[in-house]
Amino acid sequence: MKPFSYERADDVAGALRAVTAQPGAKFLAGGTNLIDLMKLRIETPAHLVDINHLPLAEIQETRDGGLRIGALVRNHVLAGDRRVRTRYPALSEALLAGASGQLRNRATTAGNLLQRTRCFYFYNPDTPCNKREPGSGCAALQGLNRIHAILGESSACIATHPSDMAVAMTALDAQVECASATGASRTVPLSDFHTLPGAHPEVETVLKPDELITAVTLLPPPPGGQVYRKIRDRASYAFALVSVAVAGDRIALGSVAHKPWRATRAEAALAAGGTPADAADAELAPAHSYGANDFKIPLARRAIVRTLAQAQEIARA
Ligand code: SF4
Repeated sequence: MKPFSYERADDVAGALRAVTAQPGAKFLAGGTNLIDLMKLRIETPAHLVDINHLPLAEIQETRDGGLRIGALVRNHVLAGDRRVRTRYPALSEALLAGASGQLRNRATTAGNLLQRTRCFYFYNPDTPCNKREPGSGCAALQGLNRIHAILGESSACIATHPSDMAVAMTALDAQVECASATGASRTVPLSDFHTLPGAHPEVETVLKPDELITAVTLLPPPPGGQVYRKIRDRASYAFALVSVAVAGDRIALGSVAHKPWRATRAEAALAAGGTPADAADAELAPAHSYGANDFKIPLARRAIVRTLAQAQEIARA
């Protein structure tokens, strides 16, 4: 691991001051992805600002009947919160489908959004990877791409975003609150927070270097059934091959793109009176695959159809 300096921040303004004062500084929260990447020298921050003691670990009711989830709420706390389990079951299911119990005890809401891809080549410094080293190439295009993207990818990168939580939050129209070192704050729809790879896969979100996520807000739960379905190689502790979140008439897909994928084509097909199969076909019409991940397109189709049908059954019950 490359040597780094460390400090602990006690408030948001202090954390932002600390991270902007030193080039190459990063925030440290749960550290469940960052520390692994530092050990591999893929992330090499010169300075870590520990934000674990900031007052951002509460889940609060909002005036409109939604929830405001502090950036430092641990994944296991959010999954088990009574309000989340009863009003946002797709979110609770997604959280419980992610990682292991130990990791969920450490991982935070904001950190979950900011975790990096699990592309094998990103973690292997001996292979070309435009995300790790811009301009070096993409080993996955001709390599082991079984877990890679089928939607929204580019010739520079076909990696996927690995989060389960973010997929459910995308279907729930979540908003990301960010505070800036300038004292300003802004709210970004989660569906616009992550970016597609284009020519710059090293850029993954619209978060600026002088910004910190402070909370994620959820609107009141939409009418209709909610389901999160994760399909993976083994039933425990594996990233999704494909996941689907349905919340009423909103649909999002996971592990199919560089970002949690809001399935707007599928939503439009349903709104026009189409069946779940019509919705799946509409969403996947522009899908591409790269050999080893060819199976993902029919798998995603079946997953969308089954998850929509299940959500409709719940709504009728
Ligand atoms: Fe790197 Fe993206 Fe290619 Fe994976 S898919 S090797 S992360 S550029």
